[in-house]
Amino acid sequence: MRIHSIVSKTASEGPGLRFCLWVQGCSRHCKGCFNPETWDPAGGEEWTAEALLSAIDAAPGIEGVTLLGGEPFEQPGELAALCAAVRAQGLSVAAFTGYTLEELRARRDPATDALLGQIDLLMDGPFILEQQDFSRPWIGSRNQRYHFLTDRYSLNDIKNARQRVEFRIGPDGSIAINGMPDLPMQTILGMLNAGGSHGKQE
Ligand code: SF4
Repeated sequence: MRIHSIVSKTASEGPGLRFCLWVQGCSRHCKGCFNPETWDPAGGEEWTAEALLSAIDAAPGIEGVTLLGGEPFEQPGELAALCAAVRAQGLSVAAFTGYTLEELRARRDPATDALLGQIDLLMDGPFILEQQDFSRPWIGSRNQRYHFLTDRYSLNDIKNARQRVEFRIGPDGSIAINGMPDLPMQTILGMLNAGGSHGKQE
């Protein structure tokens, strides 16, 4: 599957500590998207499910895996198989999508349904710049919603969470950012005088 980037442990992309997987490819092109470099379906790198599972296994203490984009539901079949293996290890799966849950169910597509069947917490809907709102954890515009597709999570997990942003400084001095800042990403990047954001999706 095409993958833009991974972060092996973060507290900014769903409940608890999570392994995060930014998939490559998104045809939605929302105005104000923080990660336009994830749009090109030919970008990123090809990863096998086995290689991703090894990377997930090497991340001790995580509660689960979060799928971000790019758009996970533009390559749902392979992600469904990966998430099934993740959940078989007792880990949870959270996912962001620019589609609404209703749009995904209306596809009547087996691969889409298979991926939905492996997700505990879904955050849906496109990022809409005019409705930007960082008051709720992990999501960035008022139209976006939380869906508890299993009983693993509940509204209490949302109420107890805080909006966070993380900065990672690489050995070469590069700075990577993930999470949802309460400032425009461009402002933060200007303050840091740096690029290379993982940004935040959906
Ligand atoms: S915000 Fe999400 S759905 Fe919208 S263009 Fe960016 S990656 Fe795609």
